[in-house]
Formats: sequence, C-alpha cells, structure tokens
Amino acid sequence: MNLEKITRQNVKELKPYSSARDEFEGFEGVFLDANENPYDNGVNRYPDPYQTKLKQVVSELKGLEPNQILLGNGSDEVLDLLFRAFCEPKQDQVVFTAPSYGMYKVLANTNNVDYHEVFYQSDFTLNVEEVIAAIDEKTKLLILCSPNNPTGQMIPENELEQILKASNCLVVLDEAYINFSKKESWIKRLKYYPQLVVIQTLSKYYGMAGLRLGMCFASPEIVTVLNKIKPPYNINTLTQKKAIELLANIDTNYQKEVMQEKNKLESELSKLSFVNKVYPSDTNFLLVKVNDANQIYDQLLKQGIIIRNRSKEPLCDNCLRISIGTKEENQILINTLKQL
Ligand SMILES: *Cc1c(COP(=O)(O)O)cnc(C)c1O
Repeated sequence: MNLEKITRQNVKELKPYSSARDEFEGFEGVFLDANENPYDNGVNRYPDPYQTKLKQVVSELKGLEPNQILLGNGSDEVLDLLFRAFCEPKQDQVVFTAPSYGMYKVLANTNNVDYHEVFYQSDFTLNVEEVIAAIDEKTKLLILCSPNNPTGQMIPENELEQILKASNCLVVLDEAYINFSKKESWIKRLKYYPQLVVIQTLSKYYGMAGLRLGMCFASPEIVTVLNKIKPPYNINTLTQKKAIELLANIDTNYQKEVMQEKNKLESELSKLSFVNKVYPSDTNFLLVKVNDANQIYDQLLKQGIIIRNRSKEPLCDNCLRISIGTKEENQILINTLKQL
C-alpha cells in the first residue's frame, strides 16, 4: 500500500489549523493567547489538542507508542476521519460487510462515498475470496468488524491474514468488543501490516460510553494524516480527565462476570419454546433467533425491557440482540420471557 497515493489530494495539500495551545502545552505561564476567560473553574482553558497525558495512559495500557494512537470523539469520529482523509466523494469506494455496524453505511452516505457490501454467509462466516474480489482500484477502505456486531463472532486469524496480504487499501478492523473475546487484539501485529488500522473504544468493556472516546491504532504515518484533519480540540477536558482517572482502576472482574452471565443467559434462552437459536458470541451481547421477533420485542418493551430488534438486518430474520446486563437485570429478562 502506498499511503501517499491513497491520501486525498486536498488533505495532502492542507495546512492544518495551528491552535493557540499547540506550542505551549504543559508550560506554566501567563496564557493570553486564546481569548479564554482567565478565571479557573476547571474547564475555562482549552483542552490539550494532542491529549498527551491520556495518550500516555492508553500507550501503556495497549503497549503501543503514543505516535501510533489517535483519539476521537467516539469511534464514530475516528471512522469519519478515515473517510475524510482517504475517500474522494463520488469517486472512491469503501468495502464493508453486512450485517454489521450501521455507522459504516451512514458515514459512507454522509461523506458521499460509494460502498460495496459483502454479505456474510448464512452461518455468519465470510467468503474470503468474495471480500478480496470486492476490492478494486477505487477502494480506499475495507472495514471489518471483529467480533462483529450484531452477529457476535470473530473473523478467524488465517482469514484476516489472507485478506491483509491480498489488499492494497487500508484495512480498518473495528475491535469494539475485543476485550470480551479470548483472542488477542490485532494491535500487536500493526508493525507487520502498514495498511492495518485498528479501532477500539472506551464505550463497551471499559464502561465509559458517556465520555465518547474512540481509539485508533495505526502506523505513525497514518496517524499523522488523521491528526492533520481532526478538529483541534476534539477530546474535551472532562473526557480526558475522567478517562485517565477511570483507566487507572479497570475492573478486570467484569469480563468474567459477562462470560458467566452470558453462558447462563444462553442456556436459559435456549430452553424457551419460542427461541430457535442462540448464536455463539465473543461479545457482551447475544443474538437470538426467535419465532416472532417483533412480537417479543414489543411485549418486552411494554414491560420496560429494552432490547434491540435486528430482524430487518440482512440474514437476521427474526433476530433479537440482547446486551448482557447485571445479574439482576438478566434475571428480570428471563423471568419476563418465561411469562410470555
Ligand atoms: C458500540 C460500537 C462502537 C463504539 O462506538 P463509539 O462511538 O466509540 O461509542 C464501534 N463499533 C462497533 C461495531 C460498535 O458496536
């Protein structure tokens, strides 16, 4: 892959906005450069545009260099930056799989970029040849989600390797659920695959969906391109502070609890007469095929239990997606389902 060749011309020519804080971060001084209100209330100053302290924490957590990290206002911003840096509207193309995370299509449409969807097979595995064949000279991004939302399963290592070896576009691997899997993240292999971009989030396992913090791990060259176009102050002061604070005390028991509760829920659900199949899951949710998804969804909703009806997604006919809650919440769900 030639990064220079796949970067949009306007991005290559762009001179990034130089913020008042670019040069003076960490310097104790008299700040009269950014037209702020000088009276301290905790947020009166602009945040660090490069999130130096937070990136240090993430760098240690993930075993990567800070220059391999880009942080976004949720993974959604990271994905949007990738579209804007590499995909020329109405000209380039992206490839992603279906069913998968709905934002890929929304971002393609928002950025006016053509997309090619490769459908999963009925057992929710991919036809690797078909994925590779979908990449053409217009393709700038291949977006893969592993473990996949909403199917819950991972793309096997050898298949991903095959795809990486055969592709000359950026391969974006969305690992939002990787902490719930027994398999390792692909961030360890970034150095072998210069076209690989791994996306993770603080929204799921780390329990910080409200903070909006998405993480992009890639080569320093790719990170440099994305840094050029990101809004200068995209991660606000409170998010940076709170993330540092919470990442210092990660509850490692939560993962075990999710696994236990998932197994329990899986076996309870399988016993229900209207459940046809509970799909295997490397995530903190279960995809469940039932007799009548709309009816069950509506009845649960009436009882104040909100799950996700995925029955309109390709290959997900009559499928419901259920997040693993606390022990008590899962019990309420099971009790209610038994009474339907
Ligand atoms: C939840 C989720 C995300 C996280 O998005 P954020 O914007 O970081 O909250 C990303 N990708 C997938 C597949 C998800 O399910």
